[in-house]
Amino acid sequence: MDYSVNDINALKEYATINNIPIMQDEGIDFLTTFIMKKQIKNILEVGTAIGYSAIMMAKTSNDIHVTTIERDETRYMEALKNIKKFNLEDRITLIFNDALNVNLEEDFDLIFIDAAKGKNKDFFEHFEKNLAINGYIITDNMYFHGYVEMNEEEIPSKNIQGIVRKIKDYTYFLENHMLYKTTIYKVGDGVAVTERRG
Ligand code: SAM
Repeated sequence: MDYSVNDINALKEYATINNIPIMQDEGIDFLTTFIMKKQIKNILEVGTAIGYSAIMMAKTSNDIHVTTIERDETRYMEALKNIKKFNLEDRITLIFNDALNVNLEEDFDLIFIDAAKGKNKDFFEHFEKNLAINGYIITDNMYFHGYVEMNEEEIPSKNIQGIVRKIKDYTYFLENHMLYKTTIYKVGDGVAVTERRG
């Protein structure tokens, strides 16, 4: 493969300079280790940004395929460029659309939700039909930069308060679901791993 640590660092630097939120190092390490350990092969990602996590997931193994969805045109174009740069066009399918307008037929071993934080439950419910029998749904930013653990009056804006409320609702939804069990890991910005109940 003809990519290097420098290429990955360039992606991360581009994201920092342009204020594009990408997974934290600890979160991406957790995700890629999980993919290797569970031998995940077919992944759906909701929220591509510039392709960083899709590229990191795809390069854990040559037989992994990632389908990833982004609704922002500038980020989508940047992701296209990056996927090409890493020669991953065959293994990463990039879809330019609002994820809630995308209807897919295939099943995925892993559905990774990392898009609009207030809509996690909508994404979950929209794509759960695409979860393979022994598959997992992973959701990032369950702590939302620490705001989830603050009292409401400490949270600086109404907008953030609204998102935090939705993340808490989503946490309750996951933890009390009849069909799925969820563990929230204290890594990165908080990662929820959901699987079917046995
Ligand atoms: N997973 C990426 C990574 O770690 O490299 C970061 C994704 S970033 C946190 C979230 C992205 O989701 C943004 O680029 C945003 O435009 C996109 N997004 C938000 N809502 C979306 C939706 N409804 N459909 C598709 N993309 C969406």
